Amino acid sequence: MLPDLPELLKANGESHKRLHCPKCDPGKQHGASLKIYRRAFKCFRCNISGGILDCLELLGLKAPQQSFPSFDMLPLWRAYQQHDSLAKEWSVSRGYPTELDVDWGYAPEGNTLRSAGIDRKTIELAGLASEKGELFSNRVVFPVKNFRGKIVGFQARAVEDSPVKWLASKPNIYGSIDKYFYFPQQVNLKSTEPLFLCEGVTDALALKVLGIEVLGSFGIQRLPLDLLLQLERPLVAVYDCDYQDFSCGERTKSWQYVLPQLAWLQRQRPDLKISCWKLPTISGATDCFDVCKYYNWHAESLYAHYQRGLRSIPTLAVETIHDLQTLLEAIAGLTITELESQAIEAKVLTHGGWLKTLSDYFL
Ligand SMILES: [Zn+2]
Repeated sequence: MLPDLPELLKANGESHKRLHCPKCDPGKQHGASLKIYRRAFKCFRCNISGGILDCLELLGLKAPQQSFPSFDMLPLWRAYQQHDSLAKEWSVSRGYPTELDVDWGYAPEGNTLRSAGIDRKTIELAGLASEKGELFSNRVVFPVKNFRGKIVGFQARAVEDSPVKWLASKPNIYGSIDKYFYFPQQVNLKSTEPLFLCEGVTDALALKVLGIEVLGSFGIQRLPLDLLLQLERPLVAVYDCDYQDFSCGERTKSWQYVLPQLAWLQRQRPDLKISCWKLPTISGATDCFDVCKYYNWHAESLYAHYQRGLRSIPTLAVETIHDLQTLLEAIAGLTITELESQAIEAKVLTHGGWLKTLSDYFL
């Protein structure tokens, strides 16, 4: 049986009640900030959080190997898969073409897993228990896997109006799902064809319709870049293009967060070919799904936009990032072409006074 986090800490000679966060409070200058739950932890100062293994890793402690039998999520997944025809109905009602056929499941109203004969303890270990019973009810369920194909968690979409559209399984022994990507097909880490990177399940499914191999990140603020370090194939990032008008320009929230992270990846892996697809701005469309639906899933029209929209990291940074500090973070240390440097200079000049900051970076 899997021990609880407080028990594991005790076995390592640590009390779970007075823990300082090694990430934001290594000198133990503040009051204890790490909150330990039975199977998860959170720092209320820097917001780092995760499951049991994440916590042990953060504290530099080892997990006793025998305590972690490989926990198999497959029986739970099978229970959701039994109702997958309802997932198909949902996808058609959302506007996906009928050809879309992926590995999905469905949790009808009530306790799907219990009805399939799965015991309470297993449901809790998987991070699928809630106060009322089971976490997912009336939701389409998508499996979250690691690159070896093992299921590590789930993400589920409400089919009716719900204040919480997307819900994830709680952190379990594999950690929280945002340490992984969603991918609707097998991922080959090595290929000559590009692998696409987008935000979330909805966009990943849209690209899957077009026959594209894709990874969807859960959120934009902390991409699991360590996984991308393993890639041996070109990467094309495509994130939302919801422009917000500002008095002194425009910016996109997603790229603002994503581009500095892609730049970090590029610096670690100069050999990796990373490009960005700037989506076309067409009537109200802001993400991959919208754009694909607008063009009625017509691959040729979309391919034409794709070719026109491809950008390097520095070019897209100049086009989409408004505040200069973030812009500089996104381009610092990257190889900048002559054209790109002209664009950067032009952008900087329109924000007079920043030229010095820029020259500090590059000269
Ligand atoms: Zn912290």
